[in-house]
Amino acid sequence: MNLGKTNIDVASMGIDIGGTKTLGVVLGGEGNLLTQLRFPTPPSSSKIVELVLSIYSELSSEVAGNVDICSLGIGIAGLVDTSGQLRRAPNLVEADGLRIGEMIAPRIDVPVHVDNDANCAALAEIRLGAAKDVDNALLVTLGTGIGGAVVANGNVFRGGFGVAGEPGHMMVHPDGIGCACGANGCWEAYASGTGLRNLAVRQAKAGKLQAVLQEGGGFEGLTGELVSQAAFEGDQEAIAVVDEYAKWVAMGLANCAALLDPEVIVLGGGVIGSWELFGPKICESFEGFLIGSQHRSSVQIKPAKMGEAAGAFGACLLGTVHGATG
Ligand SMILES: [Zn+2]
Repeated sequence: MNLGKTNIDVASMGIDIGGTKTLGVVLGGEGNLLTQLRFPTPPSSSKIVELVLSIYSELSSEVAGNVDICSLGIGIAGLVDTSGQLRRAPNLVEADGLRIGEMIAPRIDVPVHVDNDANCAALAEIRLGAAKDVDNALLVTLGTGIGGAVVANGNVFRGGFGVAGEPGHMMVHPDGIGCACGANGCWEAYASGTGLRNLAVRQAKAGKLQAVLQEGGGFEGLTGELVSQAAFEGDQEAIAVVDEYAKWVAMGLANCAALLDPEVIVLGGGVIGSWELFGPKICESFEGFLIGSQHRSSVQIKPAKMGEAAGAFGACLLGTVHGATG
């Protein structure tokens, strides 16, 4: 793909600031990865700004002489408004309010664009990945929480204040399991990686899953990974948890699809690493939940293609998006 200029020596840099790690990449004009760097994400705003500047400088020196970097895109985990301000970051609480674009732009010599990390990942999937050339898509990341991005008519849909696409906090069960946001019964409390663990803990407390519980050494060690592994190995009670989990995932996706009518739903995040276990169950339940599923064009549900680098790849593409913020 072309990043906006015809010169093959043009490149762009993207830096994805996640809750635990920060990844910087440089993409060539064809969307090819030229180099990358990864660091733990520091907690404070000032240290995050310093880290971004140091990654910019290190990656720039590495490719100097071979390509010209034409823009820097920054993806950051949290609510990013249309002015580029990080309004709320549950996983980077000390960085709430950070205006990273305004702090970086005067100190480097290329334009800076800032967006939410899931919006960046969606951009990477529609330009380079699983939803390439699709105009209407939904990207949902099932990780510690649930990230989301809506692609409408070929563009990431931002909403009235820039923070659209947070399906994890749709309420699916009033008075249900507690969510990290403080509410009860959010979709995220059932359908994220944490949700898989929540469902397993509930079953273990009811006397099920004893083999998995023993393997984890108690409730603290009862993880989604252990449940998935046990299900792979044929443990019927673990399979029942995976079945229930797939239903919760499918229910939320069907709610989103009822509202948005996407052509493709792209699922990312750690859970999707076990796609052969979860994918077919999610697709089957989804058909059951979706209104009029027998009478409408089928929605494709696909695993994300860009992997954990999707946010950084998408950040590189921000400079090509009309209306990107800085
Ligand atoms: Zn919530």
